[in-house]
Amino acid sequence: MHIRIDPVLKEAASVFNRHGKEVCLVGGAVRDILLGKKASDWDLASDASPEEVMRFFKRVIPTGIKHGTVTVLYKGHSIEVTTYRTEADYSDGRHPDQVQYAATIEEDLSRRDFTMNAIAVKLPGGDVIDPFHGQDDIKKRIIRCVGNSGERFGEDGLRPLRAVRFASQLQFDLDGETCNAIPGALEKTAMVAPERIRQELDKILMTERPSIAFGLMEQTGLLKLILPELSSCRGIDQKGYHKFDVLDHSLLACDAAAAEGVSLTVRLAALFHDIGKPVTRRMGDDGVWTFYNHEKESSRLTRTILCRIRYPNNMIDDVCHLIEQHMFHYDEVWSDAAVRRFIIRVGEDTIDDLFALRRADAFGTEGRPMDPRSLLPFRDRLEKVMSEAKVQSLKDLAISGRDLIGMGIPPGKQIGIILHELLEAVIDDPELNHRDKLLEIAGKTAERYNQK
Ligand code: ATP
Ligand code: MG
Repeated sequence: MHIRIDPVLKEAASVFNRHGKEVCLVGGAVRDILLGKKASDWDLASDASPEEVMRFFKRVIPTGIKHGTVTVLYKGHSIEVTTYRTEADYSDGRHPDQVQYAATIEEDLSRRDFTMNAIAVKLPGGDVIDPFHGQDDIKKRIIRCVGNSGERFGEDGLRPLRAVRFASQLQFDLDGETCNAIPGALEKTAMVAPERIRQELDKILMTERPSIAFGLMEQTGLLKLILPELSSCRGIDQKGYHKFDVLDHSLLACDAAAAEGVSLTVRLAALFHDIGKPVTRRMGDDGVWTFYNHEKESSRLTRTILCRIRYPNNMIDDVCHLIEQHMFHYDEVWSDAAVRRFIIRVGEDTIDDLFALRRADAFGTEGRPMDPRSLLPFRDRLEKVMSEAKVQSLKDLAISGRDLIGMGIPPGKQIGIILHELLEAVIDDPELNHRDKLLEIAGKTAERYNQK
């Protein structure tokens, strides 16, 4: 087997060869080329030491020199070069005291996780080195550990999660032995740094079919370990509302969000929007389960989960806000004031995301896309109301606290209370948003306040 190599990569490789060193393309790039996709980034492995690579090229960043990795900037490309090594980094935060270099590319390949990731392409010629038959597995679309799965997972608890992530990303199957070895490695996975778990979770959510990975996670015990709150949604049936239990509903919603290509924030909200249902479930008098206020409990649990796996605070706030708002029920009898209150509560910039979440939720309920026309009446109404009145916060009022002080109201708490009352009045009736009218209302409100 022989692979066509990009001319720039050939040129970079010839620099290594001029210095008497070998260099190979490795990792995801090789896998992607063999799958007929364009390789995203170039990872190279070489018998040259990091110090040597730094001498060979003008522009080199010592990105991970402790682990034998440097980044070469070459003709607009940034190329990671790692010296042949005998072991990978440990993902549980422990690092070998000293990086152990390997003598050959074959030895380097034997430390890698899956056969499809353990193929090298010798540069500049393009000969394929494939000691673990990764090409066969790529053809069969199978993820299989290099060597003994139990041992490989035992060395690094992140690998089981990488396996299920690749299953979603590539839509490959897990080899039976590889899959069966995951439960025995959960203790190792429990030791992995939360940041690394989050990276894999993000990658899973950004695939076309996140449910493939979550399904495998459930089957192997990874879900219970990493997202026990989601795992508890299995078997929570919702007869009367849904065909599916809460877990299947959540996974379908997440897939639907992914199919729309929406942001990570909306995908997280789709995955977790009903996670409060097991806790809030009560049997109603009519024998149908109820889930009152589940959106609040879902938001609370989601915050706990996302803090635990170290999501940034602003993202946590955005996801929780979407979840808290996901139960809106528009009716054309809503007054304009009710529509304005909805806009203020949700935030103008969040409405598109909330609608995307609603479409995902509806897909998860029915198992098929919702009628695209069903949100149109609300959308039209929102646009109409937004175009008419722009009053959303105190700063949009025609008067300010200073005007109130000017009319003799003492500075302090009372000013804030009156301004909020004015805002309420203007949301109910935007025609009131004129200086004279507001001063008049403010006067009356202050009088009422003083009588208390
Ligand atoms: P992607 O970049 O799409 O995540 P990738 O296969 O390039 O996929 P990287 O995390 O960039 O994955 O790692 C590059 C290569 O390093 C992998 O293909 C694999 O050979 C090896 N590798 C990465 N992480 C591990 C690990 N935890 N254990 C063993 N080998 C690993
Ligand atoms: Mg990569």
